[in-house]
Amino acid sequence: MKNELVEQVERAVDRQRLIDTAIALIEVPSPTRSAGAAADRLAEILAADGFPVQRHEADWPQAPIVLASLDSGTPGPTLQFDGHLDTVHLPYVPPRLENDTLYGSSSADMKGGIAAALEALRVLRSLDALPAGKVALTAHDHHEGPWGDGRQVRAMIRDGLIGDAVLLPEYLADPLPLAGKGLAIFQAVIRREGVPVHEVLRPPGTPDVVAAGAQLVSRLHSWNEKLERVSHPLAGHDSTFVGSLQAGEIYNQSPTECHVHGTRRWVPPTDGAAVREEFLQFIAEVAADTGVEIDVEFDVQGGAYQLDAGNSLVHAFQNAHTALTGAPLPLGAKPFVDDGNAYASLAGIPAITHGPAATGAHTLNEAVPVEELVRVAKVYALTAVEFCGGP
Ligand SMILES: [Zn+2]
Repeated sequence: MKNELVEQVERAVDRQRLIDTAIALIEVPSPTRSAGAAADRLAEILAADGFPVQRHEADWPQAPIVLASLDSGTPGPTLQFDGHLDTVHLPYVPPRLENDTLYGSSSADMKGGIAAALEALRVLRSLDALPAGKVALTAHDHHEGPWGDGRQVRAMIRDGLIGDAVLLPEYLADPLPLAGKGLAIFQAVIRREGVPVHEVLRPPGTPDVVAAGAQLVSRLHSWNEKLERVSHPLAGHDSTFVGSLQAGEIYNQSPTECHVHGTRRWVPPTDGAAVREEFLQFIAEVAADTGVEIDVEFDVQGGAYQLDAGNSLVHAFQNAHTALTGAPLPLGAKPFVDDGNAYASLAGIPAITHGPAATGAHTLNEAVPVEELVRVAKVYALTAVEFCGGP
């Protein structure tokens, strides 16, 4: 990569413009399923900047997705920058700039990152630096669970509103995640017929849902020990975990329901549908052995994925990172599940989650250093030049 271009990009990133954009987005509260006004704000900013903007319902008409693009005019691949505008349902904290750090709801997760990606788009345009292909900026609702179900990203994939590769500016600055686990949340409800009854008045043969729940937890625990042997060099190993077991009202009353909630995580290349099938089979066996009915919901939040280190997006990213910092970013795994899992496992396109080293996601104390937003804007702009320009 030419030093001259790197220097131009470093100079072209406008720190104040980036801060103003981030604040303009954070100013609009956008809890999941109510991100429409924030999407409108982003569309206004992009339009005011002169970028062509499209809106698509993407299965959630309350907040049509925002899609803006920068076209080099020369055929080539499309790099997508994608972010979610919605936030977890916590009390709203307004934006505030203090000690060169931006605070407020979604500053870390992830409107700061979206503002940085938008700044990269502006820089690429002002320098006319994109040698070929296109860059598309997309933003959507329905990310944060359990309020959102990921429908807008799935709709974007279904409707072809995606690039050939995607960068997601979530709050992960290090390492470069080449693999990630899949995650499903399960809720099993063990039921018996009848009504709650005094222990000594139970009809003979009344199933014991508490004992069945305990047995389910114990069998999941044993299964987890076996699952730990299913491993991946970067992503770790498979698991199942119970975080909640609830049943009963008082000590001598036989309840009719017992609830067991937990997770199942798996490493690549296992497919989510196969994991689901296996889990339902496991539950059916426990139900048959204990003589109770077990209803189970098994919601896949994101599939497992892995990227080849020789992939063209990884290559482009590492060239950009090296040009800016003198070294490639260490390789590792993604500790959480985000929309990148859907892009990689459902759409089959390379997805890299890389954003500011921000803190406090999913708390009232979100914070992102401005310096990090500036850094991400530079990395995104240069990665686009490398990816779209080809080798
Ligand atoms: Zn996020």
